[in-house]
Amino acid sequence: MFSPVVAKFGGTSLAKGSQFQKVQSIVSLKKSRSCIVVSAPGKRFEGDKKVTDLLGEIHRLKQSGEVHEGLLSEIQNRFEEIHCHLNLSGDFILSRGEYLNALIMSKSLGYTLVDAKDVIFFNDDGSLDEKKTHEAIGKHILKEKKVIVPGFYGSDPRGSIKTFARGGSDITGALIAKCVGAALYENWTDVSGVMTADPRIEKSARTIPRLTYKELLRVTRQGAQVYHPDAIPPVESCNISIHIKNTNSPEEPGTIIKGDE
Ligand code: ADP
Ligand code: ASP
Ligand code: MG
Repeated sequence: MFSPVVAKFGGTSLAKGSQFQKVQSIVSLKKSRSCIVVSAPGKRFEGDKKVTDLLGEIHRLKQSGEVHEGLLSEIQNRFEEIHCHLNLSGDFILSRGEYLNALIMSKSLGYTLVDAKDVIFFNDDGSLDEKKTHEAIGKHILKEKKVIVPGFYGSDPRGSIKTFARGGSDITGALIAKCVGAALYENWTDVSGVMTADPRIEKSARTIPRLTYKELLRVTRQGAQVYHPDAIPPVESCNISIHIKNTNSPEEPGTIIKGDE
């Protein structure tokens, strides 16, 4: 894998089957898009629920001893009972949206699935084990031609699943971009880049074509959900540009983020 483009697709880009087709055509348009990071299915429409929120709800219900209705819930209950019996953390359940989306995407694109539990490692205090993560990404990802990695989670020192903060698939993508020496980190979402305001609230919001890492940090710390602030340092430290693009309008230029000129 020579200076690949790492492309992360957010939950908004993967909320339903027709969105997967858009992602497939974007990936196949550029050969260098050889390392793909995916989130769990997000909201399909205003008022919809994200799969990660549904998984969190299932875990809470199970812990409080409430019973689920229906066949699907029965299957969930079976797995939940096994999971609770083994005393595994809620993070495992929370992470399954990313895992299943990555599995489906690997089948439909013909890319190799590399599980995030084998390449992203946390220390006991919740910080990233940078050395182990760097080595594992080198070992498992660089040798492959085309890979899919689920975002949002990794392993703790005992091998249990541990998640980043919500919105953390951006961080997975940035870490992988750093460790593979990516030519570019593409972050695909449902808006055409970083905008002057949240377009859901401010209809006249415009795309900002260029930002520095520092400016992006300021905007995201002020609450712009479009990119996770913790996903800036890994790419900034290696001067890898971030390109925020819209899966629903790939022809739009989006926002490019680089260091000071
Ligand atoms: P993804 O599922 O791709 O990770 P997110 O929902 O996390 O996407 O982030 C995209 C959302 O961020 C947009 O739908 C938009 O409503 C919101 N957002 C908030 N502030 C901004 C901003 N300044 N510029 C762009 N999008 C913003
Ligand atoms: N699916 C996770 C969340 O909803 C991670 C992400 O979307 O980046 O927070
Ligand atoms: Mg997000």
